[in-house]
Amino acid sequence: MLHGIGASEGIGIGTAVLVAEPDLDYSHVTPAGPEAEKARLAAAVDTFIQKTSALADTMREQVGEKQAEILSGQVMMLSDPYMQSQMNDAIDAGGCAEGAVDSVCQMYVDMFSSMDDEMMRQRASDVGDLRARLLGLLLGREAVDLSAVPAGSVLVARDFTPSMTAALRRENVAAIVTEAGGFTSHSAILARTMSLPAVLSVPGVTALVKNGDTLVVDGGEGVVLQNPEPSQLKAYRARQAELAAQRAALEQFRGLPTRTADGREVQLFCNIGSDRDLAAVLENTGEGVGLFRTEFLFLDRAALPTEEEQFQVYRTVAEGLAGREVIIRTLDVGGDKDIPYLGLKQEENPFLGCRAIRYCLGHQEMFRAQLRALLRASAFGKVRIMLPLVTRLDEVRAARALLEELKGELDRSGIAYDKNIPLGVMVETPAAALIADLLAREADFFSIGTNDLTQYTMAVDRGNADVAYLYSPLDPAVLRSLRAVIRAGKAAGIPVGMCGEAAADPRLIPLLLSFGLDEFSVSPAAVLSTRRAIAGWTAAGADAVAERAMGLATEAEVAALLKGISPR
Ligand code: PEP
Ligand code: MG
Repeated sequence: MLHGIGASEGIGIGTAVLVAEPDLDYSHVTPAGPEAEKARLAAAVDTFIQKTSALADTMREQVGEKQAEILSGQVMMLSDPYMQSQMNDAIDAGGCAEGAVDSVCQMYVDMFSSMDDEMMRQRASDVGDLRARLLGLLLGREAVDLSAVPAGSVLVARDFTPSMTAALRRENVAAIVTEAGGFTSHSAILARTMSLPAVLSVPGVTALVKNGDTLVVDGGEGVVLQNPEPSQLKAYRARQAELAAQRAALEQFRGLPTRTADGREVQLFCNIGSDRDLAAVLENTGEGVGLFRTEFLFLDRAALPTEEEQFQVYRTVAEGLAGREVIIRTLDVGGDKDIPYLGLKQEENPFLGCRAIRYCLGHQEMFRAQLRALLRASAFGKVRIMLPLVTRLDEVRAARALLEELKGELDRSGIAYDKNIPLGVMVETPAAALIADLLAREADFFSIGTNDLTQYTMAVDRGNADVAYLYSPLDPAVLRSLRAVIRAGKAAGIPVGMCGEAAADPRLIPLLLSFGLDEFSVSPAAVLSTRRAIAGWTAAGADAVAERAMGLATEAEVAALLKGISPR
């Protein structure tokens, strides 16, 4: 049995098809002079744009708008004159077209993958995909055509890229297995969207498996069986039928209000990183947006987005949600999230440095443009503004003062905005949690960012695998913090939400319900399962579990209690 990361649930049984990658070595290429190399590059770029746009159309039809956006994003990136001029500069410096593509793409890959942010790492993988295909075009060695694999294929590849996904026919593929990629990689996200069982990061799998092997892929457990015994096959087929029934049962939660078993309604919102994610929110019947990470608007470009550009995006989201709420977070840059053109200082401890609200308050011109854009967008929907990484009340006061000043400016210019636009605090530092009662007097709402709250409470870098064992929202220290923050918000009469990954963790749901959380914000794909998990609990049942959990002394005890817990 081979082990990897279970990245997309489900059981796939079929015949192995090894997807070999083309050899992209270009060390033998000698530059034919700047003009000739630039012409080769331009021709390859044209073909790339043509082919990728066609693939995006296929994907839009077969999978959905959101997935097609990944490919059209590559087209956009490559159509950007800035990226092309960087490549031409590399050619002028004496390189061949292949070298120019390689070095410029590598620069972007390094930039994106150095950020401790799931979406940025995905972007790194998109640029990696773009580079490989552009090199393939230049060298005349394109990847295999996945649209031709026979029904019942289990694809085994080193990595599984968005363009490979676009080409495959879902009905012919039983599962995918790769050597690279994690739970939050694009391959994983696409596989989940296509309901395609996937196990990623299986060491050496492309060498261990042979074409024609029978493979059983269990995407929930993260295991792959190679040429299993008949009895194993039978057991997995039975499990496959069971899972199909469970999936069908989840459908009944599409479009329903989110309610506990005894009728308490809570809000189930979604986290998004761009206006393009709106489609997924609506498709999965999310009830609003609980976190719009605006930093993505500031990346992939050479200069700050203007107030007008930002306004257009915020307005699209506010209008698209048609009366549902959207909580837009002001720029969370700095620390681990670098944006080259901002020229951020190198810091010894970036997580403890000039990040988020600290950076924005120190760069008023930029902050004002974002706040003005947000205010203007508030005339087109239900917009709330949220401040990240707050540690002191002063920060909320300073942001509010600025907001009031900008409201005055808009009034004088006769520009419409929501005069009661709520200004909330993202509670994600121990300082904010400890003064939640003080913050609650002046904030209009809270949203708990458990990704950072866990990191700062446990004093553990959220991206450091060596100390990952300490990074758990089930730790008594984090649980006490969550309870205190929710209680402080409730006592002050303000709504409290949660937009960290923990909001979709079924183990935590009874505790969060018992503490009184009003709003859960999860990835669009987790809406139905979270709605179902919430529907399973009554107040009495959730309270009983919370009381037991809060009486335990260690994370291991809490995890053991919540592992086998069943609702009600
Ligand atoms: C968080 O910290 O929980 C959060 C939602 O924000 P981010 O992951 O963007 O830091
Ligand atoms: Mg955070």
